[in-house]
Order: sequence, then C-alpha cells, then structure tokens
Amino acid sequence: MKLTFYGTAAGEGWPGLFCNCELCKEARRLGGKNIRTRTQALVNDDLLIDLPPDTNMHSLVYGLDLSRVNHLLVTHSHSDHFNPTDLEMVREPFAHERPNVFHVYGNSKVKEKLWEQVPGMTGTDTNLEVHVIKPFEEIKIKDYTVVPMLALHDRNEECLFYLIHQGEKSILYAHDTGAFPEQTIEYLVKNKVYLDLVSLDCTQQSVPDGNNHMGLVDAVKEKQRLIELGIADHNTIWIVNHFSHNGLWLHEKMVEEAEKVGFIVTYDGMELVF
Ligand SMILES: [Zn+2]
Ligand SMILES: [Zn+2]
Ligand SMILES: [Zn+2]
Repeated sequence: MKLTFYGTAAGEGWPGLFCNCELCKEARRLGGKNIRTRTQALVNDDLLIDLPPDTNMHSLVYGLDLSRVNHLLVTHSHSDHFNPTDLEMVREPFAHERPNVFHVYGNSKVKEKLWEQVPGMTGTDTNLEVHVIKPFEEIKIKDYTVVPMLALHDRNEECLFYLIHQGEKSILYAHDTGAFPEQTIEYLVKNKVYLDLVSLDCTQQSVPDGNNHMGLVDAVKEKQRLIELGIADHNTIWIVNHFSHNGLWLHEKMVEEAEKVGFIVTYDGMELVF
C-alpha cells in the first residue's frame, strides 16, 4: 500500500493564513517542511481522504492526480477537511472523460453542507453520489474494505476516522480526534484488527488535550493502549500528523520530540510505501 500526505496542518494552515505569531513568522522564514497546508491524504492512487481548501494547490504543486480518483472519504464537515465547492468541478463541462459517478462518503452533516454550498449538484443529472455512512458499518470500495471509526471531536456531528483494509494490510487514519472512544477500541479488539500503519492526530503537539484533538503525550498514550491490546506493535508504522501553531513546535522540534517516542512526523508531500 501507499499513503501520501498532501496536507499536514490544522484548520488555519501553518503559517496561519492571517497569523502574525512568532511561530508563523519563523515558518515563513524557514520554508521547506515548516510550510504546511490543510490535511489531505491519498491511499495508493485512488482513495482520497478529505477535501480541504488546499486541494487545488496539492494538485498543482505536489502532483495530486484527481483525474483517476472516484472515491472520497470525508472525516467530518469542518472547513479544513471539507470544502464542497470544489466538487462542482467534477462534472461537465469542467471535467471531461471521467467515469459516470464520483462517490463521496461522510456523515449527514457532510451531505447537508454539500447540497447547501453546491446547489447546482442536487439534480439527478449530476454525476455525484453521496453516501451517508455510520460508524462501524463496513463499506466496500474497489478492493478496499473501509470501516468508519467513531472520533472524539465536534459534539455537534458524528465525526469519523477511517480503518482501511486492502489485502493483508490495514491502516488507521485518525484525524481529527481526541482519545479514541470506547466503542472504537471495542470494535478493533472484537474484530482482531492488526494495524500496519497508524496516523494519529497531533494538533496540540506540546500541549496535552485528548478531548477534541491530541498532543504528543495523548498520541503516546493511544499508541501504548493499542500495543497493549495487541491491535498494533513495534513493527507498526507510527505517524503523527495535523499540526497547529498553537502546539508551539516547528517541524524540527516536532521531529526531535516524536523520535523519542517512536513516531514519524509528516510533512506536506510525504509518501510512505509499506
Ligand atoms: Zn482538522
Ligand atoms: Zn501563528
Ligand atoms: Zn475538525
């Protein structure tokens, strides 16, 4: 399997779009891996996770090729994960020679937001299909089995993150979430899941959270819990991702701290094959 991280920042981006704090000024000065766009990832070449406002930039700068993508998993409706207006471009005359249907999977709020913001897409003549999905109900997409997991995040909607199986491999892509709810842990245990790759939320970096997001200490606790339960082990690829300037660590410091506890730190454009 291959997983590419096209965007690795929280909602404001890093540097924050309008921010004048020392960390954002320093990121602008340093450039490179300190420049982070809003979170998006691609599994292999065909399964997209989230549609942030930086999607077009990911296409232009990092070579994200959406001409071959027909399936989008959305974690929740927050603007850094779902910018539905871009979906208007999936139909004629904005996109030619595509298969008939582009599939979007998300909670009911994602569906509402899509129809609200792209009213032209509501007719039966559109080539967009929205699937309202529920936690722990399996979805078959091509040769993937995808299971939405329940997140601990915005209490006003059913926020999800994703367990994705292909062949013998399984990945857990967990953004945005605090500590995993018990139902999520129960599902993983009951189904004897073994995870080859885990990408954990680390929005708060140096600041403990666990309630809506995670800091590094919360990610470490979650890692220990998954290992103790036999869901993952030290051969699992452990990743932290989705960073905010409010977490106070620029890329180099984030890498230094994450290495001590066995995590890889993402950067925009990072590709992992496993
Ligand atoms: Zn987010
Ligand atoms: Zn800032
Ligand atoms: Zn969010």
